[in-house]
Amino acid sequence: MKNLIKHIDPALEEIKSLSGYRPQRVRNLYDPLAIKPFKVSRSKLELFLKCARCFYLDRRLGVAQPPGYPFSLNNAVDSLLKKEFDGYRTEQKTHPICLVNGVEVVPFSHPDIDKWRDSLHAGIQCIVPNTNIMLYGGLDDVWINPKTNELMVVDYKATSKATAVTLDAPWQIGYKHQAEIYQWLLRKNGFIVSNTAYFVYCNGKADGNNFDGRLSFDISLLPYEGDAAWVESAVMNAYNCLRSDVMPSGSESCDYCLYLKAAQKHIL
Ligand code: SF4
Repeated sequence: MKNLIKHIDPALEEIKSLSGYRPQRVRNLYDPLAIKPFKVSRSKLELFLKCARCFYLDRRLGVAQPPGYPFSLNNAVDSLLKKEFDGYRTEQKTHPICLVNGVEVVPFSHPDIDKWRDSLHAGIQCIVPNTNIMLYGGLDDVWINPKTNELMVVDYKATSKATAVTLDAPWQIGYKHQAEIYQWLLRKNGFIVSNTAYFVYCNGKADGNNFDGRLSFDISLLPYEGDAAWVESAVMNAYNCLRSDVMPSGSESCDYCLYLKAAQKHIL
């Protein structure tokens, strides 16, 4: 590990590229001397799990990876599903996909549900004990079993593939972490939460003869048994990482850093 890092010039203006990407932020950086809560999103904790160096560069030094393209079609599916489940929430009725799968739940009605779903401005949040990290994230939905009063974390996913959707691919570990982080956050907010989370998985059908301006989906309800025991210690590790003045090691399997190393050989 290399010793930290060049000092960030306090007079540094935020650099903004023509695309709008800011390769160097000077705001929202972790300050080890500050005691006020520092917000770390669910996706930044996932980044820490993938690569502590990238997390450190982003949250402590203000250098974040360029964003990807927005998943507009997935967002449209999310938005329509939210509206659909909100209808069942208002009526406190079980959605047909749950009835077909024998899952006895109704969408949870709570005054803060819209706040919990708003990842940009609020989300469900909690200050993690023995840190000044406020962990937060915007969940898609929460269901409740009216007989047991247990809550269930729900996530909507959209894809298009010829085979049936599953949660078995190695890259889907992020989906599982996501469900477990929300289970942990809901419990810290005082709720009884089932270990079973549900993915409402929409698979766009591409086998028709014509498009005709329509894309139809097969919808599957996939249960996942979560275990959120890792969340608190992961946040503690991320907290210690942020407080250190030593640059952490990077992931050895990351294409971005391999690209950077190869490019630097030619540039420098
Ligand atoms: S290895 Fe990848 S994820 Fe880690 S710092 Fe480099 S670019 Fe970021």
